[in-house]
Amino acid sequence: MSSTPYLRLARACESIKALSGRKDKVAQIVRLLQELKPNEVAPAILLLIGRVMPEGDEDKLDIGAAAVYQLLEELGQTTLLAAEPLTILEVWNGLREISSLRGAGSRERKLMILRGLIARMSALEKHWFLKQLMGEMQHGVNEGLVLEAVAELTGASLEDVQRAFMLVGRIGDLVELAVRGGGDAIRSTRLQVFRPVRPMLAEMCHDLEQLLKESDKPMGFEYKFDGARVQIHVKDNEVRIFSRRLSDVTRSLPDIVQVVKEFSSRFSEIVLDGEVVAVDEAGRPMPFQELLRRFRRLKGVEEEAERIPLKLWIFDILYLDGQELLDMPYRERRELLEKLIPEEHLAPRIISSRLEEVQSFMRRAVQEGHEGIMAKSLESPYRPGRRERLWFKIKPADTLDLVIVAADWGHGRRSGWLSNYHLAAYNPETGEFEVVGKTFKGLTDEEFEWMTKRLLELAISNDGYTVAVRPRIVVEVAFNEIQRSPKYRSGYALRFARITRIRADKAPEEADTIQRIRELYEQQFERKRLPRELMIWRLRRG
Ligand code: AMP
Repeated sequence: MSSTPYLRLARACESIKALSGRKDKVAQIVRLLQELKPNEVAPAILLLIGRVMPEGDEDKLDIGAAAVYQLLEELGQTTLLAAEPLTILEVWNGLREISSLRGAGSRERKLMILRGLIARMSALEKHWFLKQLMGEMQHGVNEGLVLEAVAELTGASLEDVQRAFMLVGRIGDLVELAVRGGGDAIRSTRLQVFRPVRPMLAEMCHDLEQLLKESDKPMGFEYKFDGARVQIHVKDNEVRIFSRRLSDVTRSLPDIVQVVKEFSSRFSEIVLDGEVVAVDEAGRPMPFQELLRRFRRLKGVEEEAERIPLKLWIFDILYLDGQELLDMPYRERRELLEKLIPEEHLAPRIISSRLEEVQSFMRRAVQEGHEGIMAKSLESPYRPGRRERLWFKIKPADTLDLVIVAADWGHGRRSGWLSNYHLAAYNPETGEFEVVGKTFKGLTDEEFEWMTKRLLELAISNDGYTVAVRPRIVVEVAFNEIQRSPKYRSGYALRFARITRIRADKAPEEADTIQRIRELYEQQFERKRLPRELMIWRLRRG
């Protein structure tokens, strides 16, 4: 049987876009999965959700939008009528090859491959291919919908599918597993050492008092470190470290590997969850940016390790000597950790239900240079994502993670730089990013330079005043208040927004949502006395 034409995928995108119901969209994905061959499902599903790379892959296409538009224009309306239609696998393999090319002449070669693909595409295929390159599909299919389709296809429960997804890590691997092995394969998926698990995430908590009230039981509170997530896998004294986005970062962190080896005689197989933080000579945490430099490093790792020492903090355990611990309550997992991990690497923790006690713990965390605290339900299992309200992050100031969608050219001291950033929140219902404010505050000169370069790579249009960019860069933004505002389509504007750091570790879809902003806005009324006109506005809304 020959391979599935790429046109089949483009048609699927088109018909999914035309449907409004979630169920109908899911049914279309199921049909697509049924028609594809097992080796095609991973590429097809990734392309379907607008990804040209599997998760954790550090390669980049490195082709600017401008080059793609130019190619499209150059190739015009003509389609080369080849004997064989372009297949999904040809498109995928072409993209893989493009992303693997480096060095001299690679740009020409990349464009040649791209030209070869586009020349064989019909208008419909070009339309969706371009959207895939941009990573903006706007047909309403996200990972969540794919998981529902996998449940539907295999007859496994959504919970089993989510669990398998956590353990398999990558969405492409999950769909392939489902198509090859059906419901049994989904249900019998187990954690494997050296295959990273999707990490458990936390929700923001803006009101500690409320949280304590709601959870009528004591909770665990840990320091929240301002570093990078690491998942550490050890087997027979071999150590591998994965980032939050499942990339293997072992080679960048030889010093952390060493630290783990110092206590690894206590077990033969383990999977740990923790955070590494850059520290200064006195052992105090340093800004997050310093740390990112270490993560990107592959050359000169040793010198960098000396220049920027790292400190390892462990806060969870997922697996120990043949036993999966994901369903064990957090309280017991923590007890295990205390037996296995030297105290100097164990996240400081208290168990409490008393506001003053927790507040003073948070003050201590902040004084020691950390970001805030995490609250963890004592009974909670380890679950990916942040759906279940089991972990909460509590920071002293309000921050949101937002995506830069455009930037204005600066004046005066900042001329030549893109310096006023348009910040947007994610809307998972539409897959779009909605602007909620602008800021030029918070970055160092070095960061302005980096940002300008990166944004120009992501540029979609440039009218000499504003450059619109693909939504890729996530920044953490501190602000004082959320207001209603007719200025932006979202209807909200942040007051006194300032960038507190660049979140290179976060994907745009992980940014805070517009729904979250709405919630925060509503909460303000409960917490503060606000100007009269706002109260009137609220009353009118009912
Ligand atoms: P955020 O990235 O802002 O959504 O916050 C969640 C992140 O905080 C996690 O992904 C971890 O990288 C980090 N973190 C720092 N300290 C802890 C801790 N004690 N427990 C869990 N996560 C932590």
